[in-house]
Amino acid sequence: MAGFALTEPNAGSDAGAIIAKAVKVGDEYVLNAHKCFITNGPHAKFFVVFAKTNPSLGIKGISAFLVEADRPGVSIGKHEDKMGIRLSTASDVILEDVHVPVDHLLGPEGKGFKIAMQTMDIARVECAACANGISQRALDLSIEYAKTRVTFGKPIASLQAIRFMLADMEIRTQLARSLTYRAAELIDAGQTDSKLCACAKAAASEAAMQNAMDAAQIYSGYGYSREYPVEKLMRDAKIYMIFDGTSQIQRVVISGNLLK
Ligand SMILES: Cc1cc2nc3c(=O)[nH]c(=O)nc-3n(C[C@H](O)[C@H](O)[C@H](O)COP(=O)(O)OP(=O)(O)OC[C@H]3O[C@@H](n4cnc5c(N)ncnc54)[C@H](O)[C@@H]3O)c2cc1C
Repeated sequence: MAGFALTEPNAGSDAGAIIAKAVKVGDEYVLNAHKCFITNGPHAKFFVVFAKTNPSLGIKGISAFLVEADRPGVSIGKHEDKMGIRLSTASDVILEDVHVPVDHLLGPEGKGFKIAMQTMDIARVECAACANGISQRALDLSIEYAKTRVTFGKPIASLQAIRFMLADMEIRTQLARSLTYRAAELIDAGQTDSKLCACAKAAASEAAMQNAMDAAQIYSGYGYSREYPVEKLMRDAKIYMIFDGTSQIQRVVISGNLLK
């Protein structure tokens, strides 16, 4: 397992504000960093760590390094007690005077931010695919429940209010899935389109959140109970609007591409 260590306590959306440092000493780099929210932190065998080799250059001073988890000075800090995706771990990763050979620099010095953003393009489509799974499951569970739950002598699936919710859930899922497939197809063809990756991530994560909320509404009291699976879908869906760039940051990327 690997970890992607970019975020710091004061640098999330604004990844260029990281203060992690890497100083070249002879044929090694010495890294100091406090990273947080790092997925797989406690299990990763190695990390890709982003740190500034030249802080005066801003994002152009960021470089990427491969750092094995068992190097002296690497430690795992606080584990996040998360609302959802409870089977995935995220933790602080701390680097104190960690020495790595110069060949652990990934790409040229100063290209770390570009590497991070290119990685994000692909990660966003993976996020979208996971979110589509939540959208579909929310819909499948809702259809099943609507056919069996009876109120006023009839299954709730006979009510137009419920049928239209199901239809809207299907529309959202189909739209998000089509966008995801298109963005993924372009990545496979070597023509990654950052704008489309961001569109897919925003559309799919927001569709998943809305579908999970609609499923909870259709299940109503049982949707709010931990006895049924839809409350878990709601908790899980939210993260897709946050990591790998929040929904707002996707809009920053999309509008930036539209206006360039
Ligand atoms: C479970 C989990 C796993 C994670 N895994 C990883 C990981 O493996 N590696 C890693 O490096 N990071 C990881 N992260 C960090 C994640 O990428 C950040 O939390 C995310 O980028 C948002 O940063 P922030 O939380 O600091 O929010 P902030 O950047 O503080 O944003 C706060 C709010 O302001 C909005 N905002 C900020 N800037 C702008 C802007 N310019 N325009 C409009 N709105 C803006 C945001 O959208 C948000 O609503 C993980 C986070 C979580 C919760």
